[in-house]
Amino acid sequence: MVGDHDCIFCKILADELPARIVDQDERTVAFMDIAPATRGHALVIPRAHSRDILEIDAEDLEAVALAAQRLAGRVKERLGADGVNLLNACGPAAWQTVYHFHIHVIPRYRDDPLRLPWIPSQGNPEEIEAAAQELAGR
Ligand code: AMP
Ligand code: ZN
Repeated sequence: MVGDHDCIFCKILADELPARIVDQDERTVAFMDIAPATRGHALVIPRAHSRDILEIDAEDLEAVALAAQRLAGRVKERLGADGVNLLNACGPAAWQTVYHFHIHVIPRYRDDPLRLPWIPSQGNPEEIEAAAQELAGR
């Protein structure tokens, strides 16, 4: 499917920009991130352009999730990763820089330099409950 022509991931899909593709199927393509957080860091994208998690078609989301699961298995088996993080960014406040939906598949190694971007600490129960009341299904 033709996407936004200013979209670099659509250009990769159209073979207008190079990428090292490592997996693909009818709905998805996975390729190596050019600025890897760790060895083997890859991105899984839907072939159909969508901006983010709020916009992506449900069947594409399912296919991308399954492709990410496939790659997660491979990074453990073939790269000897000790674990895997899946990361998705939605919006600039959440670090999104490319506005074509993607899931980062980030192999994790016991001695890698990545650290949690927040410091876990006990939350305020009233604040948690107030947020829960706004979030809970209607
Ligand atoms: P995000 O910040 O979650 O939107 O992630 C965008 C990711 O795309 C970053 O990790 C970039 O390193 C990666 N990236 C940007 N351009 C390319 C490209 N041409 N080929 C592969 N990865 C790219
Ligand atoms: Zn796109």
